[in-house]
Amino acid sequence: MNIRSELLIFFLLISVIPLSAVVYVSYDYSKEAIRDSVMANLLGATENTGNAIDNWMDARKDDIRVISQSGIIVNSEKEHFHESLNTFETEYKGVYTEFFLLDPAGNIMFSTLNHTGNAGNEHYFTEAARGKLYVSDVYLSEMTGSPEIIITNPVKKNGTITGILAARVSMENLYRIIENIDIGKSGEVFIVNKDGDIIFHGNRSRILHDNIKDNFAVKEVTYEKNGINEYVNYKGENVLGSYYWLPLYRWGLIVEKNIDEAYAGVLTLGKVMAGISLFAVIGVVFLAIVISRRLTDPVKSLEEGAFGLVKGNFKPITVSSANEIGRLTGIFNSTAQELLDIRKKLEAKIEIANKDLEEKNKELITANEELKKLDEMKSDFISMVSHELKTPLSSMKISAEYLESETSVDPSVQKELLQIIIRNIDRLTRLINDILDLSKLEAGKMELQLEHVDIHEIANTVLENAGQLALKKNITVSLDIPEKLSPVLADREKLIIVLNNLFENALKFTQDGGSIHLSAKDNADNIEVSMKDTGIGIEKEKIEKIFDKFYQVDSGSRRKIGGCGLGLSISSGIIKAHGSEIRVESEPGKGSTFSFRLKKVE
Ligand code: ADP
Repeated sequence: MNIRSELLIFFLLISVIPLSAVVYVSYDYSKEAIRDSVMANLLGATENTGNAIDNWMDARKDDIRVISQSGIIVNSEKEHFHESLNTFETEYKGVYTEFFLLDPAGNIMFSTLNHTGNAGNEHYFTEAARGKLYVSDVYLSEMTGSPEIIITNPVKKNGTITGILAARVSMENLYRIIENIDIGKSGEVFIVNKDGDIIFHGNRSRILHDNIKDNFAVKEVTYEKNGINEYVNYKGENVLGSYYWLPLYRWGLIVEKNIDEAYAGVLTLGKVMAGISLFAVIGVVFLAIVISRRLTDPVKSLEEGAFGLVKGNFKPITVSSANEIGRLTGIFNSTAQELLDIRKKLEAKIEIANKDLEEKNKELITANEELKKLDEMKSDFISMVSHELKTPLSSMKISAEYLESETSVDPSVQKELLQIIIRNIDRLTRLINDILDLSKLEAGKMELQLEHVDIHEIANTVLENAGQLALKKNITVSLDIPEKLSPVLADREKLIIVLNNLFENALKFTQDGGSIHLSAKDNADNIEVSMKDTGIGIEKEKIEKIFDKFYQVDSGSRRKIGGCGLGLSISSGIIKAHGSEIRVESEPGKGSTFSFRLKKVE
């Protein structure tokens, strides 16, 4: 998990948990407070309405008492009385439907509606005849079908009941007062009698047509209780119901409100609280993101910079703040730069070291190859030397054994055999001398005995040495050396070795009937000696190698021709010791020319 997520979680934990607790506690507290206040309001409104009903009823009862005790009824003429009641009725418009006066026998003496008849058996008459004010139950008027009550009171004169005053009172006026109570959109207010019959309802058609005695509040109120409660009403709805018992009339006033509507404040409070919480959480998240960004962005840049440093593509990080992280970034930048500089220097050194190593490696490879070559040469040398040694030794042995075994040998044969032995001894001596010369040359120990050497003289010596062989092979040997050629400064013996080698090679590699031409030329400051033959020649790419020790162009021909590949090495070494070199021009099948220049004596 990265720092940003950790910070986000941390901020959420330290803010959301206490916030939730505070919100929950205050919501719970406020909820109860709202509920209590809603209940108190509803209860208060119900009680107020109950009081208003009581007051209204008292006012009606007082009206009847006042009228029945007033002189109007007791003393006035019937017409005058009629007039007074009408006036009263008009004054309380819509409250009194009818006033009528009954004699002590129950006969209607007059009525504001001109009714006649006897009501001696009516409850309202008999109750009032006992001398008390009487209020009837609510009933539906036979004339108008509207709910009304009858209030009766005895009319007394000198303490004797002279009649009964009766007033039919319309409930509509009272109902309008009741309907002022706030019941919301879906609430209901009704009054029931002690049997649970509805005697007031907004829907007038239900009055005295519906009985709701099973409703919780109706049960409570008909047990003469006042109070407020939450319950499921007769319609199956959750309601908050307040009930008020009016003992004088044995009526129960019930006000029911839909519970959701009643507690809408709680719901609103919940929504507000939830909104505040959400807003706070969003605020915290936003703040957490901003703060964590401020903290983690420079750290991220540091991380990227470190990666860049590791990969070698480091770019200085922008320092965006002056706090600890900013200072750390600055230190990181300078350290990284130093590291990069050190790295560059190290890389340059490593490159140089690598190149050195490569060169040394190449040298080692070359040295190794040379060693291998040397090794091969040594084994070749041993095999050739042993061959070269073996050949003369075996012919010497054969000749010696023949001389030893035969008692009488023909003197001419004996001489020939002895000559063979001597020739082979010479050959062996030459080979050994060659090897000795070469080892001296190799060791740099060859010392030159420089003297004035006449090329003419040493050429003749060489021809004398190998002339016989040329004759045998029918090879024409010609000399072209000017009579008065300047002498050269050289080691005479070594120069004879060189010319001998060149001449022997020319003889060896030239077919019978060919020719060899030895010449000397006087140049400005040197004498150029050339040995030209018409032999087999040498391929261009092999010319350079013929001066290597033990190198032979064709080892097959070597076997026939003899030699061990040392002649040209020795000759080249000798001429080099004289400060010059042997040059070769050759064409396969046509012949070769070996030449060298020597300083002439001034
Ligand atoms: P070797 O004892 O074999 O003659 P050298 O060192 O004298 O050894 O010569 C090396 C080789 O060079 C010979 O084996 C031969 O192949 C070649 N070579 C030297 N001289 C001649 C020449 N005149 N014509 C052709 N090949 C020659």
